[in-house]
Amino acid sequence: MKAPLLCVHNLTKTFAGYDSPVIRDISFCVYPGEVLTLVGPSGCGKTTTLRTVMGFEQADIGEVKRGEEVLQGGVVFVAPERRKIGFVFQDYALFPHLSVLGNVMFGIRGVPKARKRAIATEVLWMLGLAGLEERRPHDLSGGQQQRVALARAIAPGSRIVLLDEPFSSLDPDTRHTIRGEVRMLAERAKMAVVLVTHDQEEALSTADRLAVMRDGVIEQLGPPEFVYNHPANRFVAQFLGRTNLIDCQASGTMGESPLGKVELERAATGAVTLSLRPEHLELHKPIGGRPSGKVIAREFKGHDMTYHIRIGIGEYLVQTDAACRFNVGDPASISLRTKAAIVDDTEAEPTKRVRLPLA
Ligand code: ATP
Repeated sequence: MKAPLLCVHNLTKTFAGYDSPVIRDISFCVYPGEVLTLVGPSGCGKTTTLRTVMGFEQADIGEVKRGEEVLQGGVVFVAPERRKIGFVFQDYALFPHLSVLGNVMFGIRGVPKARKRAIATEVLWMLGLAGLEERRPHDLSGGQQQRVALARAIAPGSRIVLLDEPFSSLDPDTRHTIRGEVRMLAERAKMAVVLVTHDQEEALSTADRLAVMRDGVIEQLGPPEFVYNHPANRFVAQFLGRTNLIDCQASGTMGESPLGKVELERAATGAVTLSLRPEHLELHKPIGGRPSGKVIAREFKGHDMTYHIRIGIGEYLVQTDAACRFNVGDPASISLRTKAAIVDDTEAEPTKRVRLPLA
C-alpha cells in the first residue's frame, strides 16, 4: 500500500462569532496519483475544508499531515507558504504585469534564476503551454490562463494540489479537456489532487475517490461508481443524479415493493428505502404477476430516453436506450436490472449555525 501524500483527521472549524462549526470531523487521505473530489451543495463547507488544509484558516481541532510531517495539530501550525501545497482557487488571479513564464517562476524559491526558468519552462511544456512563455495573461484564453494557474501551483515542486472550482468559468469543452489534463498530470507526476466542485457530473467523471459533503460533514467517501450505485443515504442518492427512492418491506435478501418483488443487495428486515437509478430499471409491456401502470411522460435525450411511469400512487423514472418505443398513455411494468441498493433512512437535521450576539 502506498503511503498517502496528504492526510486530514477530524478537521473542525468554527468561524469567530458563530456557535457551531462550519466543517466537522473531516477526515480523508489522498495518495500519489490520486484525484479526490469534494462535492456537495453550495455552502456545505468545501472551500473551508481546502482553506483549512492550506492553512488560510486555522482549525479548532484536527490534524493535517503532508506525508509524515504535521502541518496542523496540537500546538503545530505551519504557515501556508511553508506547507508545500499548491492551490488554484476560483479566481485564479495571475499577475497581469508578469509574463506567463514570470507568473510560473514566481513561486519557485531557493534556486538560482536559471534553474527557476528551466523548471517553469518544463512545467509549461507539460501543460501544453510551450511557445506562450512571453505572453501576458490578458493575451490568453480562459483555458490557457487556467493552465498557467495550474503550472504556477505545481512549479514549486508541490506534489499536493488543491483545486477549488477551477473550471467553473470555462466553456464546457475546455472544461472537459482541462479536467482530463489534471487527471493525467496526477497520474504522471504521482501528485495528490483534491478537487472541489458542486458539479456532480464533474465529480463522478474526474475522481478516483469522491467525498460527498453536506452541512459541514462528509456523508460518504469512496470510488465514484460505488458511491453512485450504493449511496449511504437519501441525500447522497439524490445529490448524485436522479434516483427512485422506493419504500420496501424487506425479508432477508428479498423485498416487497410497489414494483413487485425485488432482490436486495444485502439482507434486511422490515421497512427499508431503496435507491434505484433510472438506468437500473427496465420497461416492459405489462407482465403477469408484476404491478403495471402507464407512461405519463417521456424525455428524448438523443442517446437515451427517460420515461415517467405511474404505478399506483407512485411515479418512477426509467432510462432506456433511444430505440425503446413507448408512448405516453401506454400500459407498462417495471423490472430491475440489478439488485436494489438500500439507503440509510435516518436523516439528520441540518445544523443551524447561529451568529452569537456581540458581547
Ligand atoms: P460554494 O459551493 O458556494 O463555494 P462551499 O461548500 O465551498 O460553498 P464554504 O465557502 O466553505 O462552502 O462555506 C461554508 C459556510 O461557511 C457557508 O455558510 C459560508 O457562508 C460560511 N463561511 C465561509 N467563510 C466564512 C467566514 N469567513 N466567516 C463566517 N462564515 C463563513
